[in-house]
Amino acid sequence: MQSALQSLRQEVSAPGLYLDDPADFAGFATDWTRKFSGQPSLVARPRSTEEVAALLAACQRHRIPVVPQGGNTGMVGGSVPRGGEVVISLSRMNRIEALDKVAGTVQVQAGVVLQQLNDALAADHLFFPVDLGGRGSCQIGGMIATNAGGLRVLRYGHVRDSLRGIEAVLADGTVVSNLNKLKKNNTGLDLKHLFVGSEGILGIITRAVFEIVPKPPSVETALLALTDRKQLPDLLQAARAAFRGLSSLEFVVRPAVDLLREVDPAVREPFDKVYPLYAVIEEETGTGPVAREEFAERLEALTQNGIIADAIVAESEAQTRELWGYRERPPEAITKTGLTHKFDVTVPQGEIPKFLDDVERLASRFPGFRIFLYGHLGDGNVHVNVVQGKMLAREAFYAAEKELSDEIYGQVSALAGSISAEHGIGIMKRDYLGHSRSAAEIAMMRRIKNALDPLGIMNPGVIFAAQK
Ligand SMILES: Cc1cc2nc3c(=O)[nH]c(=O)nc-3n(C[C@H](O)[C@H](O)[C@H](O)COP(=O)(O)OP(=O)(O)OC[C@H]3O[C@@H](n4cnc5c(N)ncnc54)[C@H](O)[C@@H]3O)c2cc1C
Repeated sequence: MQSALQSLRQEVSAPGLYLDDPADFAGFATDWTRKFSGQPSLVARPRSTEEVAALLAACQRHRIPVVPQGGNTGMVGGSVPRGGEVVISLSRMNRIEALDKVAGTVQVQAGVVLQQLNDALAADHLFFPVDLGGRGSCQIGGMIATNAGGLRVLRYGHVRDSLRGIEAVLADGTVVSNLNKLKKNNTGLDLKHLFVGSEGILGIITRAVFEIVPKPPSVETALLALTDRKQLPDLLQAARAAFRGLSSLEFVVRPAVDLLREVDPAVREPFDKVYPLYAVIEEETGTGPVAREEFAERLEALTQNGIIADAIVAESEAQTRELWGYRERPPEAITKTGLTHKFDVTVPQGEIPKFLDDVERLASRFPGFRIFLYGHLGDGNVHVNVVQGKMLAREAFYAAEKELSDEIYGQVSALAGSISAEHGIGIMKRDYLGHSRSAAEIAMMRRIKNALDPLGIMNPGVIFAAQK
């Protein structure tokens, strides 16, 4: 391997392309969850598509395995090395290249960070509507490679739904470029979709064109209190009917709020009473006091119908951030608390109450485990976090992973759900892919992988086990 790496460095070089000191590899070796970690043999940070192409062509020639890395906020272990792979980080390919206000599109390099994109678009009252908690770090390439979803899927869909064009480099260094801006373009197989959710196993995404939308004139937000999780399906139905501009409907089960207050004592008790369940609702509305009054009236109707017990309407930017915090801040609080088994699953929305009951019952079989539940009510996406308690040894915690996974993915399958809602498969879920995809589908995925990456250098072991 050392001589292959030496050849790579001789054949492809540019100032600052490689990190020379292994002491600088740390940020590229461990992912956001701290659960997945592995030492890279080398870290390369190209600045252009041409450099990515030269790197991949040389890696294929010398059979050097590669892990593409974006913002490293992935949750399933696909963004960090496992067996001394070379990490190709897109972080220096971070230019917003072209804004076409007439077409309503933006062209970006893959290393642009989501927040950076939306900050730049804000000057023109535009925005890219896929939004998620990792917005300060996750990159466009990583978001495409995982088909990121997030907080506004209900209204705007996943990354796939906004993607118009793509440029990617295949394992042999071939650049496949179709930076299409057109909405209507039915010209044969739509190849960009191959890369959506491909998790780095088919090639490296280097550029993309996205549809962007005008920023709504105003957005109203409220935190809702519920007394019974059985009301969640009713809340979704009622909100869809009454809130025409509904853009987000999220839920948090109480222990996650307790944890937030435990980790940060400055977090306030939101209502004058403790409730077992909360929801955040967001609606895009017109401007002015009338819009807020009408929003509050719609919430009042939900209270009258007994669907919610109470509501706080945000009156300012600061309060909006505070209310969103009850839903957005638990993932970070969890990471600070202990090792976590994370399950990102979808079940039909009407089954959410039963599923929450089932996983709580399951977790209670494991003494010393804490369970935190929240998710995207609008699209049935539940995030199950099983966290290591203080007194529990690391080994005992990890030992339970298989049993928990078998049970949870078994329940998801029984409810006709999906074992991955938005985080992908990575290495964490590859043994369970068959719960959600048929044998014929997995065989077809492998054929596509083998056709585009015959030597298997691209992110080996991700989505399915590497072939010998
Ligand atoms: C606090 C928090 C909240 C989150 N909330 C959400 C959420 O609501 N919805 C959601 O969908 N996700 C969420 N995530 C998960 C994560 O942010 C997304 O999966 C995101 O899309 C990953 O982007 P990234 O740039 O960090 O990719 P990475 O983590 O770097 O990589 C993810 C995968 O994509 C591959 N990859 C990365 N860049 C490229 C490229 N240019 N070409 C080819 N392959 C590439 C990697 O090899 C890896 O397999 C959250 C994460 C955090 C930390």
